[in-house]
Amino acid sequence: MTGLPPTIERVIDSFSRFPGIGKKTAQRLALHVMKADKETILQFARSLTDAREKIIYCQLCHNYSENDICHICSDPQRDESVICVVEEPADIILFEKAGYKGFYHVLGGALSPLDGIGPEDLNVESLIGRLDRVKEIIIATNMNIEGDTTALYLSKMLVDRHIKITRLARGVPVGGHLEFVDEATLTRSLSERVLIRDE
Ligand code: ZN
Repeated sequence: MTGLPPTIERVIDSFSRFPGIGKKTAQRLALHVMKADKETILQFARSLTDAREKIIYCQLCHNYSENDICHICSDPQRDESVICVVEEPADIILFEKAGYKGFYHVLGGALSPLDGIGPEDLNVESLIGRLDRVKEIIIATNMNIEGDTTALYLSKMLVDRHIKITRLARGVPVGGHLEFVDEATLTRSLSERVLIRDE
């Protein structure tokens, strides 16, 4: 019991469901909401519901998008000969910051036989349909067992295609999730990427 009314308790409960937010931080955020300007809070609430209602997955790369095709896939300035395969949309933010100019493909996770996650649970099929003008696939899955398993699976799957397959250099810490990698490391890892298989 916090001695607070149930309405505020519900706000605390909602905040505490976010990743990395403990009970104390959730309380602090909820009490901040009570003190903040009402219009600011209403705008915040609207931006959340708006995002949840309007955002869909891009039909090509499976990134978040407001349209059927996202702004990256529909950008004629991007290099269509390279596709960078990532696990989650969050990973794209890093590559954009690192100045990457090719296209992306979001798998929606990584292979994990122990958790029962197979290729059919990921956006693998749709990658095959995008390879017409592609010369290189950069596999940028996380540097852990699942990410490595996925990279191996993809490179085997693409064995008959005349496409160069590369993987990020090991500047990314082993076992590490890409989202915790700093920009400089990612830029280096991207430029020093290792060849898995030449075309
Ligand atoms: Zn897209």
